[in-house]
Amino acid sequence: MSAFSEYFKGLFGGIGSLLTGMRVTLKELFTKKITQQYPENRKTLVISDRFRGVLVMPHDENNEHACTACTICQTNCPNGTIKISTKTIETEDGKKKKILDEYHYDLGMCTFCNLCVITCPFSAIEFSNEFETSVFTRGKLDMRLNKEGSKLREKKVAPKPVAEKTEAKPAEETQAQPKAEVDKPTPASTDASADANVDNKE
Ligand code: SF4
Ligand code: SF4
Repeated sequence: MSAFSEYFKGLFGGIGSLLTGMRVTLKELFTKKITQQYPENRKTLVISDRFRGVLVMPHDENNEHACTACTICQTNCPNGTIKISTKTIETEDGKKKKILDEYHYDLGMCTFCNLCVITCPFSAIEFSNEFETSVFTRGKLDMRLNKEGSKLREKKVAPKPVAEKTEAKPAEETQAQPKAEVDKPTPASTDASADANVDNKE
């Protein structure tokens, strides 16, 4: 190929490339804009129910939760995000009983894999779709999920069937468990010294 034809080949190639770029620019110029004006649109912002924001432990109006402190979620968590401490109490009939003392969850460690929620036999934890979780210190990402003074729900929640426990379900199903009131978990750094007065009625 002569230098002459190479010159024109390069020239027309460049013009073609320029026209392609101009076509994309012109198309975007007249496309409807969909800019989200966050955070001004907080009231109308729609966050999917399936979004895994923060792990929470729902408490009902009597400040009761469904966690039996079985530690299955802690065992199944792949990176040590969950730390459960228990305490032993004496029941009315004189028997010793292990109950939940503090349930800690480190948002900074969580990979949002949902294994803890899927494997909990009592549907005691779930993911909220809270997404504004920025803090200035890592310590505030360590949250205590069981509220101070909370206790195990008197009406015992029936364990999930074995098939449900082992099969991974879509997130929307795991979110669809009967929901009690969900409050934001409190950073552990603010109440780490507080004892949970949890009373097991089993
Ligand atoms: S959250 Fe569920 S799996 Fe974890 S300790 Fe409580 S009852 Fe057991
Ligand atoms: S979502 Fe996964 S990483 Fe996060 S606490 Fe649960 S099991 Fe652990």
